[in-house]
Amino acid sequence: MRAPTQVPLPQADDVTAPFWNGCAERRLLVQHCLTCGAFQSVPQRYCRKCRGSEFDWQESEGQGRVHTYTVVHHPAAPALRDQVPYVVVVVKLDDCGGAMLISNLVGDGAADVAVDRAIRLCWDNDAGAWLPRFELVMTGTDHESECR
Ligand SMILES: [Zn+2]
Repeated sequence: MRAPTQVPLPQADDVTAPFWNGCAERRLLVQHCLTCGAFQSVPQRYCRKCRGSEFDWQESEGQGRVHTYTVVHHPAAPALRDQVPYVVVVVKLDDCGGAMLISNLVGDGAADVAVDRAIRLCWDNDAGAWLPRFELVMTGTDHESECR
């Protein structure tokens, strides 16, 4: 199962640019508050926990679990009509304070998605930019950094 490819590409701003620049280098960076130590995976100008505004960026190893998911059968936009079904997952990372991010589950096993399944990061360039996607961890298979 593939992720949708006919999607608008990210438009970085001063807050999100470090995240997208990391993606361009195939590095999953998570915003980390220097005041309270909280991680937030949707970059924001202020920390959601303490309202601090000083951050650095921590690189995730890309291992995590399915926090929740949905299988999209009805396209949200006409351009996605030929791309359903696809799986949208909320990923809870094993590192970076358990930060969560929204992504797609891709690969042969994606139809077997379930809450709490172990997943790992893979990089997808089908939409024209490196985007972090995830695939199920299958025992006995080697991990490729690019999505299959
Ligand atoms: Zn904070």
